[in-house]
Amino acid sequence: MALFHKILIANRGEIALRIQRACRELGIPTVAVHSTADATAMHVRLADESVCIGPPSARESYLNIPAILSAAAITGADAIHPGYGFLSENARFAEMVEAHGLTFIGPSPAHIRMMGDKIAAKTAMAGLGVPLVPGSDGAVADLDDAREVAGRIGYPVLIKAAAGGGGRGMKVAASEASLEEAWRVARTEAASAFGNDQVYLEKYLDQPRHIELQVLADGHGHVVHFGERDCSLQRRHQKLLEEAGSPVLDAAARDALGARVTTALSRLGYRNAGTLEFLYQDGQFAFIEMNTRLQVEHPVSELIAGIDLVKEQIRLAAGEPLGYTQADIHFSGHAIECRINAEDPVTFSPTPGRVNVFHPPGGPGVRVDSALYAGYTVPPYYDSLVAKLIVHAPSRAEAIARLARALDEFVIDGIKTTLSLHQRIVRDREFLAGEYTIHWLERFVESE
Ligand code: ADP
Repeated sequence: MALFHKILIANRGEIALRIQRACRELGIPTVAVHSTADATAMHVRLADESVCIGPPSARESYLNIPAILSAAAITGADAIHPGYGFLSENARFAEMVEAHGLTFIGPSPAHIRMMGDKIAAKTAMAGLGVPLVPGSDGAVADLDDAREVAGRIGYPVLIKAAAGGGGRGMKVAASEASLEEAWRVARTEAASAFGNDQVYLEKYLDQPRHIELQVLADGHGHVVHFGERDCSLQRRHQKLLEEAGSPVLDAAARDALGARVTTALSRLGYRNAGTLEFLYQDGQFAFIEMNTRLQVEHPVSELIAGIDLVKEQIRLAAGEPLGYTQADIHFSGHAIECRINAEDPVTFSPTPGRVNVFHPPGGPGVRVDSALYAGYTVPPYYDSLVAKLIVHAPSRAEAIARLARALDEFVIDGIKTTLSLHQRIVRDREFLAGEYTIHWLERFVESE
């Protein structure tokens, strides 16, 4: 029996294509939804059916829950995959999908809600034995409270939004003198970006790496992990390049972290895909947040573990058991992903416009996830990610050599992109040595 009759993909761009590809290989017809600005987009062209759900603004289209549910109803879809971004971490949307008798391809609404509140997420994880970054015990009510906590954990401190995401609503206070200003700005930003000004405090780590663990769970206590991704190369807390595994982690450290995390999620009764994000410094892991969805950087884990995470998500959502244990998962080689954005490689301002030439690289160990084509016009309304170049090779050194040659083959003409930035990163001595922290990329960009 088919897993699902028809899947509606509530997203656009490369991730909508990625999900379509999994559905097609599973023999499941797909429905694309799109804004009027995306009528000629690749995810619409390749879908079995498509429905226009509103005008260009995401609020009126890709975030328009009634329009998306209506599209599912009129096309007879019985499941919805939310991709990443947009409605993927909206617990209310997941609830409404279920209330309409459809399957939400993701975790339970309760777990989405819990992890969407970073304070609740940290409390839950601490209770399950997962180590945290030192910080406030829950929300910080006022400036006096913030002063008291910062005095206790020591400066510098980071003020973070409970409802935060995308690196927004985060402010560093280097000392007590700058605490008031940082406090005010973080709360204002949190209120305007997330409609919730609740904030909490964390010790600001000076030299951490961002290391995250990919998991899959069946909701009945069976949880496995697919190793770690090192996502330390960030600009303004946004990831630009990710690798699996981390250049600084050995199998013993990976196994220890994996055992802790899978035990915790098993006790939680978590289901479907998820990622736990940690800061790693001085040999210690400290949990910062959990993402209850497929992530942009999921392909690097797919390549080292030889798995299709989207197919697994679909299988699990249909109620199938995992069917394997941690002992069945083996890692092979090294994988790296570059996020190629329609942005000026120096100023990082968005560069929407017409793509005249699109020539993706190929050859051994090269994967390109992109919805671009020659003649396509990148609209100005959405995220600037236009392509992901992912390589896989037996070793990290070989993966970097492969990445460098693939970047050199890649032609995107007509709009400026961050391709040239990646070409410079992969030739840098410190990058080659794997010697970087979350602060490395910003310094690299500035030093150019
Ligand atoms: P968001 O949900 O907005 O992405 P995260 O909590 O995942 O926020 O943090 C994003 C990034 O900010 C991390 O990958 C890391 O680079 C940086 N960061 C977060 N917390 C800390 C901290 N306590 N100390 C130093 N850097 C941090």
